[in-house]
Amino acid sequence: MIETKAYAAQNETTPLAPWTFERREVGPHDVQFDILYCGVCHSDLHQIKNDWFPGIFPMVPGHEIVGRVVKVGEHVKGFKVGDLAATGCLVDSCRVCENCKRDLEQYCLNGSSQTYNGLEQDHKTPTYGGYSNTIVVTEDFVLHLKEGVDLAAVAPLLCAGITTYSPLRHWKVGKGHKLAVLGLGGLGHMAVKFGVAFGADVTVLSTSPKKEEDAKKLGAHHFVVTTDPEQVKAAKNSFDFILDTVSAEHDFNMYLSLLRTDGVHICVGVPPKPAEIAAFSLLGGRKSLAGSGIGGIKETQEMLDYCAENNIVSDIEMIDIKDIQTAYDRMEKGDVRYRFVIDMATL
Ligand SMILES: [Zn+2]
Ligand SMILES: [Zn+2]
Repeated sequence: MIETKAYAAQNETTPLAPWTFERREVGPHDVQFDILYCGVCHSDLHQIKNDWFPGIFPMVPGHEIVGRVVKVGEHVKGFKVGDLAATGCLVDSCRVCENCKRDLEQYCLNGSSQTYNGLEQDHKTPTYGGYSNTIVVTEDFVLHLKEGVDLAAVAPLLCAGITTYSPLRHWKVGKGHKLAVLGLGGLGHMAVKFGVAFGADVTVLSTSPKKEEDAKKLGAHHFVVTTDPEQVKAAKNSFDFILDTVSAEHDFNMYLSLLRTDGVHICVGVPPKPAEIAAFSLLGGRKSLAGSGIGGIKETQEMLDYCAENNIVSDIEMIDIKDIQTAYDRMEKGDVRYRFVIDMATL
């Protein structure tokens, strides 16, 4: 077994603290890589607090993981020692269901293996994430990174990046479309970058007028303050797509009114409570309310390659792992531009 240093939550009430555990030995199809940087996702905080469902403890969060390969199994073909490697939200899936066969492992019908707070495909061994010094992952779920990229700023692409890239690609958002990005946080800032890169006319919808300057710096063409009734009125019937990254409660009916006929409101954020949707909000203008969850391995690789070719990375703030609690406190207040990334050398 491989002795592994980590930061873990022992239960849903204790703060993260140093913890040591054992990862499996490198199997014939496994890649082991030492972790250089790990992004801090809002879902890390939700999961250690049991906000969504009872978690598996001790819990080592982290699913925006980049590093360098230190060992490969005898049947591994795509990686060698010294290569860059990355892992996102998934470390395995059943590989045989109809969704896995369509490269949609994130929707595996038999339950994909989440990178942490999940179980391996034996459905009993817990998985532990990237707030640790090394990780062992089956080759098919390890992503390639190009040498020369800014590794720390690439880490958030593994969750925030693919979560916004995948729906924009699925609905073929691009030239001639008006895209609204709802919320300007970790997900929202990536959605703006991708929307602009794909050629869409991008508007940021935010409750905070203070974010206008930042939105424009990220490339957004327009900004609407959603607490200003005049601005909301002027934005009615104007968007082909709304990419909704907000994970707090909000009024879907109001946002649906901003869509044009045949417009699509796509949810990627996860508010804590179910929302009330009036059927009239949808049928007036034949509108759709949709959702999208992360992305499959093939598409995640495509996204990483696209970002490398087009110089797209996340805007980050690097932290020492000892400051993770402060980072969580600030993240809860929306006080981060736009992703914390842990320098794992500080572990
Ligand atoms: Zn995430
Ligand atoms: Zn499957």
